[in-house]
Amino acid sequence: MNTYPEPAVTFVRGEGSRLYDADGRAYLDFLGGLAVTSLGHAHPAVADALCEQARTLLHVSNLYGTTVGPEVAATLDRLIGDGAPGGGRVFFCNSGAEANECAFKLARRWAGPGRHVVVSAYGSFHGRTLTTLHATGQPEKHEPFQPLPEGFRHVAWNDAAALEKAATGEEVAAVILEAVQGEGGVNPASAEYFQAVRRICDERGLLFIVDEVQTGLGRTGRWFGFQHFDVQPDVVTMAKALGNGVPIGACWATEDAAAAFRPGDHATTFGGQPLATSAARAVLRVMQEEDVPSRAVAAGARLRKGLEAIPAVADVRGLGLLLAARLEGVDAKDAAARALEAGLVVNPVSPTALRFAPSLLVSDDEVDEALAIIGEVLA
Ligand code: PLP
Repeated sequence: MNTYPEPAVTFVRGEGSRLYDADGRAYLDFLGGLAVTSLGHAHPAVADALCEQARTLLHVSNLYGTTVGPEVAATLDRLIGDGAPGGGRVFFCNSGAEANECAFKLARRWAGPGRHVVVSAYGSFHGRTLTTLHATGQPEKHEPFQPLPEGFRHVAWNDAAALEKAATGEEVAAVILEAVQGEGGVNPASAEYFQAVRRICDERGLLFIVDEVQTGLGRTGRWFGFQHFDVQPDVVTMAKALGNGVPIGACWATEDAAAAFRPGDHATTFGGQPLATSAARAVLRVMQEEDVPSRAVAAGARLRKGLEAIPAVADVRGLGLLLAARLEGVDAKDAAARALEAGLVVNPVSPTALRFAPSLLVSDDEVDEALAIIGEVLA
């Protein structure tokens, strides 16, 4: 359907940080399928896991037990606890929007009748289903689809006082925030903001949901973005990097919050099936072996420093390997199109900023090569 503009390039193959078109031309991928292919393209461990699982068991439905999902859930719980058990439970689904839908339903169930409002931030992005679209704090995206499901309130980003004011009333159940607003332009939250939100949620008995769909699993330099801020959320949603390209999402919640769901309250046909979870198991194994958060810190620092040295770059924002370069006197869309022609995939996250979300296994040479292309394009 007519939901995306006509693509400029069609890719047929990928390997590590490289993509190839049908003519065999190579491109350096510094977008990572929108922060999805965190281990690069065609990672052998993920490919092997998929092939082996495809020959073993693809799907049985959630009416029966399988062995891989619980293993992945336990690993996610430990990563959320930063090495110690996180004390939570996991619902598997197929995308980021579905993970957030799960979080919203859980919040309503947990809070009880009459308490259903979720507060989110302007500039946020939480998905494209009707409910997650309303959670998304970008009113211009709402307009063609009104009326949207009721129950969302939007407040200024990174402004604890505004949130404190908006999160009042018996009807409020939860707050949802990203650690770094990704689609909104790569805008990190401050530690003080997240800590204030935690306090407000504690004082008022609200669930603090952190949407880690774009920031999760090492990209920002910690396993999860909230870990930069010394707070513990009640619910964490993730997707994108979890399958390195295989569709899978997950909603983690503390034991206390998760206990609000009863059998029959929420379900999915495909979520948690062995094929997707075996990909996630392989992804998480490699991520831990390679210590991807540390790699994101090191490669992110190199990329940031190189970008800051380019004259047309006004400043660089973001964390780890989720960065945006604000451009001066250059249209970002134009710059991204020219970069693509020059063999580099980047994304204009706003009219004035380019987003970088390469593989977390990107090499120093690849970072330098990307910087040389960007420097030349902007010059
Ligand atoms: N939440 C955040 C923070 C995202 O960046 C995205 C997608 O970009 C989503 C949710 C929606 O995820 P999906 O497209 O997998 O539904």
